[in-house]
Amino acid sequence: MSGDRWRVIRGGLLCDPSQWPQPIAADLYFCSDRIATTPPEGTPCSVIDATGCLVMASGIDLHTHVGGGKVNLARWLLPESARWSGSGAWWKESAGHHRLTSPVPPAWETGRRYLEMGYGVAMEPAVAPCSARQTHLELSDLPHLDTGGYLVLGNETLLLEQLAGGCSQQWVDDYVAWMVAAHQCYGVKVVNPGGVSAWKEGQGSTSLDTPHPRYGVTGRTILVALASAVDRIGLPHPLHLHCNQLGVPGNIETTLATIAALEGKRLHLAHVQFHAYGKEGPMGFSSAADRLVDALQANPLVTIDVGQVLFGQTVTLSGDLAHQAHHRDLAHPGKTILQRQELQGGCGVLPFRYRHPSFVHGLQWTVGLELFLRMPDPSRVFLTTDHPNGAPFTTYPHLMRLLTDLDFREAAFRTLHPEVQRQSELMQLKRVFDHTDLAASTRWGPAMALGLTDRGTLQPGALADVAVYPIGSNAQETYREARWVFRRGQIVYDRGSILPPSSASYSGTQPPATQPLVAPLDQVAPALPSWEARWREIYHRTIASERISGDELQEMRSSRWEPVPTPPSSPKESSAAHARHRQDRKAN
Ligand SMILES: [Zn+2]
Repeated sequence: MSGDRWRVIRGGLLCDPSQWPQPIAADLYFCSDRIATTPPEGTPCSVIDATGCLVMASGIDLHTHVGGGKVNLARWLLPESARWSGSGAWWKESAGHHRLTSPVPPAWETGRRYLEMGYGVAMEPAVAPCSARQTHLELSDLPHLDTGGYLVLGNETLLLEQLAGGCSQQWVDDYVAWMVAAHQCYGVKVVNPGGVSAWKEGQGSTSLDTPHPRYGVTGRTILVALASAVDRIGLPHPLHLHCNQLGVPGNIETTLATIAALEGKRLHLAHVQFHAYGKEGPMGFSSAADRLVDALQANPLVTIDVGQVLFGQTVTLSGDLAHQAHHRDLAHPGKTILQRQELQGGCGVLPFRYRHPSFVHGLQWTVGLELFLRMPDPSRVFLTTDHPNGAPFTTYPHLMRLLTDLDFREAAFRTLHPEVQRQSELMQLKRVFDHTDLAASTRWGPAMALGLTDRGTLQPGALADVAVYPIGSNAQETYREARWVFRRGQIVYDRGSILPPSSASYSGTQPPATQPLVAPLDQVAPALPSWEARWREIYHRTIASERISGDELQEMRSSRWEPVPTPPSSPKESSAAHARHRQDRKAN
């Protein structure tokens, strides 16, 4: 077709678990923004020489805290982290990552590091309804990454009192659809179902069947209602769940009971490393990774991301207010933010250092690796650190080396607490990941779990979102920095430089520099729902102000890369500009 622009990546090794069990030497063609089959003879084609390189679809991180309320609270709590980074001491002990100024760096830097590692999608897993606008604004600052978020439900007063009153499943369906659409989110996340709200009422740890002290409903009731709603309204990603009892010895029983409670429904379990603990051994704390993997094998509709712990300083930030409050004495440095977040949930921010000599931290490290290695299908276990909770995302290349290099893994294991070395079965697992396994865990698998059928693969017709890595002597070297990253067929990262959209000169219709990933819920009427009055009583604001229109989202997303306007030269002009701005806001 005239107007098409052809490009070929020549001489590389193509790695795509959706097509080949091992990388193959072949050329990869782009036709404009899509991957294509070989063009007709004589078609003009620009050539990229990828000799000695590995070629993969761009990476997809479906659980990384990169924008929104908690992230900004963490920046506020840790203004000194940039100084620690500058001195070097803070990061030297960390696991091999480099050049991140803080575990919660500014959005631009976050985006740059993801792009550098060859990623194209980052999903913020915890969008509180009351901070959805701020989250979208921040996500739009991640250059050339497509981003979206999961709306946090399951601890908010309106839903709990409706469930307590015996509302119908249809009511829950309508509520979930309206909330996801109104906040322009992609999916639904539940954090410690019912437990955060119960903690605010003075209750300690909650398991799946603990009745809420005010409403009487259990985590099980909340989960079944929300998972059913997600399926019935047809969200592309299943319920994204942070189970009850995060980090508690013996919590495997709750995790297995949760899987059983939702049997037959799609489900994604987040950062399962923190939810796979037994109570065996002299310390009363042990790995239950084998039991979790057995349950996953019996329930093929369940996917997981690991939330790997790696040693060094980081900051934990979680919507699980109850967990964070309980562990606030472990903060390092010793300071914490706990926030009740209106009547919609809560969050806690707690700086944390994972230490080699610690039995608990060492065991957590082994549990995460066990989950990767025991799970036969890498396209159901996704490579995450629950950034920044287990470690900053820039540790991914180090984690990839731990998975692919048995000697390296064993050397690291020998530095752990002696009781961990006695107790853990990790070194009996001789499996090593190869490039195809890594691609399944970081591209193809997450794309399928998100229902993003147009990416995560090199098949013809997929988006030409592709990363090209010079093959190093180990996985850490290979995946630390891509040579080129393509988005929609255009180079956006070129040997250390990020190209702005104008330089990238997208062909055909110009896509935005970042694409918001929003659930397809066109059927949701813009009319105000029947619970409008109750909403106003609970939250003291109108529900109309809650809704983010498509136009508003577009405005938030599209203007972020425009040049910064010249500031007004006089105070008079400045106040006039402010007045205009206020007028514009009113009109909208
Ligand atoms: Zn998380």
